[in-house]
Amino acid sequence: MRAEIIAVGTELLLGQIVNTNAQYIAQGLADLGIDVYFQTVVGDNTHRLQDAIRIAKGRADIILFTGGLGPTQDDLTKDALAAMLGRQLIIHQPSMDKIEALFVSRGVHMVESNRRQALMLEHSDPLHNETGLAVGNALIEDSTHYILMPGPPREMKPMFDGPVKQWLRSVLTIGKPLYSKQLRFAGIGESNLEAALIDLIDAQTDPTIAPYAKEGEVALRISTKADYEAEAYSKIDEVIALIEPRVGQYLYAKEDIPIEEAVVRLLRKSMKKIAAAESLTGGLFAELLTSVPGSSSEFNGGIVTYTNEMKHRLLGIPLNQLEGPQAPGAVSESTACLMAERVRDLSESDIGVALTGVAGPAESEGKPVGLVYIAIAPKGAATLSYTLNLSGNRSIIRLRAAKAAFYRLWQ
Ligand code: ATP
Ligand code: MG
Repeated sequence: MRAEIIAVGTELLLGQIVNTNAQYIAQGLADLGIDVYFQTVVGDNTHRLQDAIRIAKGRADIILFTGGLGPTQDDLTKDALAAMLGRQLIIHQPSMDKIEALFVSRGVHMVESNRRQALMLEHSDPLHNETGLAVGNALIEDSTHYILMPGPPREMKPMFDGPVKQWLRSVLTIGKPLYSKQLRFAGIGESNLEAALIDLIDAQTDPTIAPYAKEGEVALRISTKADYEAEAYSKIDEVIALIEPRVGQYLYAKEDIPIEEAVVRLLRKSMKKIAAAESLTGGLFAELLTSVPGSSSEFNGGIVTYTNEMKHRLLGIPLNQLEGPQAPGAVSESTACLMAERVRDLSESDIGVALTGVAGPAESEGKPVGLVYIAIAPKGAATLSYTLNLSGNRSIIRLRAAKAAFYRLWQ
């Protein structure tokens, strides 16, 4: 079964909104074992929408629409499809009753256009809209399956997960479902990871191995189709057993979690509390850490000391360490170590972490963009420091620096 998703909306074409519905629907179809071959975006225009439908009909067995089921003039998905298929639009009475009741309860006058949301193509199945007014539609003609869903994600998602999936299951003999596991890596780039595994990636067809980058980290998705979950995961685990000996030292999780969450779990296990002193990352380390729910038990807090003066005043870093012709400077290994030790002691934490470096676009203290020092200062042990030469633009360097600090903590 080949599926095509048609997202309708001029806002999508203009780039004013992101087509998150297509992503959601595509993921859901993959879970059902239905292959999506094409995704189309078309504006609120009858002729172009009908062109898109004609093309989709020739190359897909299932066409899923999202958008354009609302009450206004530019909502024309049902009209366009009905005209093409030569079908009438009829009233779906339960939806009409719901719309009328809503207007009565609000004491607002209902305009005629609101009734449009209760229309459906004749000889089609209505799809219940749990969170909105526009009724969805599903029908089969010439062995093409048409599914019409509203645009707002809060309406589309429950409709897709409930009535649409149910309808698809009832009319199709659905293929085997897709199972996958994610492996998450830190401390290695996407190209190095791929290079270390390229023969496996190329040779492996079932399960498949697909590398991809995700918010400053890299991941592998290992997927297979199978009748049973246990069968799928044992096949997937066999592939993981081939991967681990090669890049196991970078593998921090066999599930979809960011490195900061893996660090929080480790700290929780060892009952350690940390604190951070940040310069180039401007609080990004703390931001990532505090986005892990419940991290207040592991993270005492952080200080952003951006200028030398603040490094001196808040952390007590000597000025002659930071400034002057002979001084190591703010961007230096020894400053990173002092920052980590000071923030650990000031906050009475078990571990202090510090990040200092040059995020760019211009160099600083005569030091190149991307030069970053990370220090980790555990209480009662020697402070560890790491020098990184990161590439990328300013925001990528900052993100990579923060992620690298988590990777070093995880190690
Ligand atoms: P409404 O009754 O709100 O008019 P509708 O079914 O007619 O619903 P649209 O008018 O096409 O849908 O879109 C309504 C809103 O839904 C958009 O402004 C946008 O916020 C969201 N939306 C529409 N399509 C998508 C999409 N493909 N991905 C994510 N959001 C979308
Ligand atoms: Mg609309």
